[in-house]
Amino acid sequence: MGNKAVFVDRDGTINVDGPYLSDPDKFEMYSGVGESVKKLKEDGFKIIVMTNQSGIARGYFTEDVLSKIHERMKMKFSEFGVKLDGIYYCPHHPDDDCECRKPKTVLFKKAIKEHDIDVNQSYMIGDKILDVCAGQKIGVKTVLIPEAHSRNEFLSNKNEWKCVPDYVADDFMKAVVWIIRTRNYNLNIQ
Ligand SMILES: [Mg+2]
Ligand SMILES: [Zn+2]
Repeated sequence: MGNKAVFVDRDGTINVDGPYLSDPDKFEMYSGVGESVKKLKEDGFKIIVMTNQSGIARGYFTEDVLSKIHERMKMKFSEFGVKLDGIYYCPHHPDDDCECRKPKTVLFKKAIKEHDIDVNQSYMIGDKILDVCAGQKIGVKTVLIPEAHSRNEFLSNKNEWKCVPDYVADDFMKAVVWIIRTRNYNLNIQ
């Protein structure tokens, strides 16, 4: 049957979006994320971070710096007793037309294989429509957390969304409450 997982976008979802965050000291996790991810882990979900990092191809930072940022992220999660199960990133430029940059799904497929993930029990959380599109392609349920500063404008342009999420949440904690509720619902109807 495989493992259930929540794929989580990084910038703008776990941490404040830089953009092109290139300094580990400036990694700032949103409040509520650590506690909420802990709840997901306690509920049996694997947590897999999926992130586009074109700042590498653009020459803004190196893979070594990225790994330091990810060490910082892991440290922040460990303060909540959380161990992330995987971090996958695309280092390419959008113009490179690689197969791993979201909304493409090569990294998801790799993670599904490496962690024996059952997509039918799994979710994607992100702040961009491309996160939703990627999640839908691999067959998980999707939650969108629009950025607070552009939320109203974003929500009023729903007809322009390329992919429609299963749920739109105000923040990470609400996204997780919804996931835990719907996964119980899925169990009850089996
Ligand atoms: Mg993002
Ligand atoms: Zn790529």
